[in-house]
Amino acid sequence: MVEYYCKFCGSKSSSISSLTSGTCPNHPNGHNKGKHELYEGLEESVYICKYCGSESYSIRSLTHGSCRRNPYVNKGDGHHEPFVGGKRNEYVCKYCGNKSRSLQSLTFGYCPRHPLGRDKGRHAPTILPSHECMTEGNFNKILKLFGL
Ligand SMILES: [Zn+2]
Ligand SMILES: [Zn+2]
Ligand SMILES: [Zn+2]
Repeated sequence: MVEYYCKFCGSKSSSISSLTSGTCPNHPNGHNKGKHELYEGLEESVYICKYCGSESYSIRSLTHGSCRRNPYVNKGDGHHEPFVGGKRNEYVCKYCGNKSRSLQSLTFGYCPRHPLGRDKGRHAPTILPSHECMTEGNFNKILKLFGL
């Protein structure tokens, strides 16, 4: 059976509607200030934070930790959030195309083409594959991700 997970706290449910009807203790607006939100990635053996590159074996344990690079950190609770693209050999910024071997080093840098303005935010990884990591396994994962 398919389980659906909240990307903020790792709560799971057998249906999306029951998941997203509950309030989320880790919501970026603050404790219980919003609903659970669906994690739209695949089940992974390791989850990696899209903001800082921290890793954990479950969404629940990953999102339990607070994240210093979460852009919401000043507004409320900033927690790690799983990267939908999974663990990779290379990460590419979706705004400017900057590449890095680790998510941690990619998101360390400020992005010249950030939507909030030049250097107003950090590089953010795209979930699309780069040529370098376009192995057959990854390609099949991407197809699944987009329901193809
Ligand atoms: Zn939640
Ligand atoms: Zn993090
Ligand atoms: Zn960038």
